[in-house]
Amino acid sequence: MRARALKDIELQLRNAAAASGRPEPRLLAVSKTQDATAVAELADAGQRAFGENYVQEAAGKAAALAGRGLEWHLIGHLQSNKAPVAARLFDWVQTVDRPKLVEALARYRGDDRPPLNVLIQVNIDDEASKHGCQPGDVPALAKAIAAQPRLCLRGLMVIPTPHPDPEQRRDAFRRTHALFDALRAGHPTVDTLSMGMSDDHPIAIAEGATMVRIGTALFGRRESRDRGPGAGDP
Ligand SMILES: *Cc1c(COP(=O)(O)O)cnc(C)c1O
Repeated sequence: MRARALKDIELQLRNAAAASGRPEPRLLAVSKTQDATAVAELADAGQRAFGENYVQEAAGKAAALAGRGLEWHLIGHLQSNKAPVAARLFDWVQTVDRPKLVEALARYRGDDRPPLNVLIQVNIDDEASKHGCQPGDVPALAKAIAAQPRLCLRGLMVIPTPHPDPEQRRDAFRRTHALFDALRAGHPTVDTLSMGMSDDHPIAIAEGATMVRIGTALFGRRESRDRGPGAGDP
């Protein structure tokens, strides 16, 4: 059943990319609140990359599924005191939004692993309640990341304001794409623009997303434990 949902989403991504003349984006399967069995089902169907919001929850699933070649992405807010664990556990951290986190992740990323892939999270709609740096902070943060050999700067991640009409998020996606182009011009390792979720991925793809983060459309509705997009360790 989940294998079927995966095929459906892959087809939708392909169609959205073709319709807007964009390359097909990578699919990140957002597995927060789902158990290891559900993740294994999608892995069996060929899905490699999984997104998690909480360090401890991800650690359990990564241990249960070790050796299967899965790629784990942190997409929830990261507290600095959890950075040592996150630096070793994840393949990607998509929520880097302050210099202190850059230093902590770089310090604890082991030499036995490839550099940790990092996205800068931008608070593109300037929401007081949201994590992410201001658009104007991106150049300095990018420079700090690029100076760390244990980190690899890959691009940007955004969660626009959850307006009930997804079309209202198009402008935020567009502004993020402009930031991404400017970032890419100065940093050759940058290739990833992570934006778009279950209800707005076709719009994000049309506006240049190279990675979409899909939970509900793959796994079904989450339970009440879910604290919303971008939630992370308190
Ligand atoms: C939960 C979450 C998603 C997935 O949202 P869906 O609407 O279930 O597809 C994507 N990105 C982030 C940061 C999330 O926290």
